[in-house]
Amino acid sequence: MFYSNVHTHSTWCDGKNTLAEMAQAALAAGMTDLGFTSHSYAPFDPGCIGVTDEAGYQQAVRQLAAELAGKLTVKCGLEWDYFSPQPAEGYDYFIGSVHYFTPRAGVYRSVDESPETFQWTLDNWFDGDFLKMAADYYQLLLRHVTENRPLIVGHFDLITKFDDTLHYLTAANRQQYQDLARQTLAAITEQLAAWGGMVEVNTGGMSRGWTSRPYPDTYLLKDLQQRQTPVIITSDSHQTETIAFHFQETAGLLRNVGFTETIQLQQGSFRPVPL
Ligand SMILES: [Zn+2]
Ligand SMILES: [Zn+2]
Repeated sequence: MFYSNVHTHSTWCDGKNTLAEMAQAALAAGMTDLGFTSHSYAPFDPGCIGVTDEAGYQQAVRQLAAELAGKLTVKCGLEWDYFSPQPAEGYDYFIGSVHYFTPRAGVYRSVDESPETFQWTLDNWFDGDFLKMAADYYQLLLRHVTENRPLIVGHFDLITKFDDTLHYLTAANRQQYQDLARQTLAAITEQLAAWGGMVEVNTGGMSRGWTSRPYPDTYLLKDLQQRQTPVIITSDSHQTETIAFHFQETAGLLRNVGFTETIQLQQGSFRPVPL
């Protein structure tokens, strides 16, 4: 049923397994296609500096692709963070993601590092006001998509990652937050058709135990379905065990929301496949 995963990491950034190990896991899961998307270079983040040698990374992926030809189609992508320098030429596709808030005096604070750092940033940069924080995040994501036209919009509502732990969404701010998320999604999806873009349905927050649902949340999936925006299921896998994490269940969720197809990478091209 599942042919591909196009959001995967490896030891070229903060993943636990090598390219070859991830490819073996994809084969074992019955996949025909695999896309690697190392984190783009982020010299300001000692916790996740991303790919420092882009030519070496591309060469390693191309070599593996040649070795596995006929068994697994392997593509070379990049998870392009908004604050990274312009990526090198030669990638097959980009996932556009925002992992940092707007920097202040040269300091970058992570959106998704840990509940502790998130709470610190919320208190010290946004006066404890989650709506202010969310406004910063979504403004950056919209800018990233508009300026850089990534094929795939990465973990759309990543900003909710720690809500199950910290409960910053409250009766007082939830409606306003959801309105903001929906407006941003509408502005993004309006643009995607221009370059055949899509939104990923990403199980990475679930596989690491932070969330009980994929990104984006179900009310946003409903908007995507109504707008007929293409979606693709990914696991944002950083290790072999999560290569197809919760894919079947996520397909079921999408069917419940009304989707009849998702995008898959098949024989090296992104195409719609019935759910
Ligand atoms: Zn990411
Ligand atoms: Zn990722």
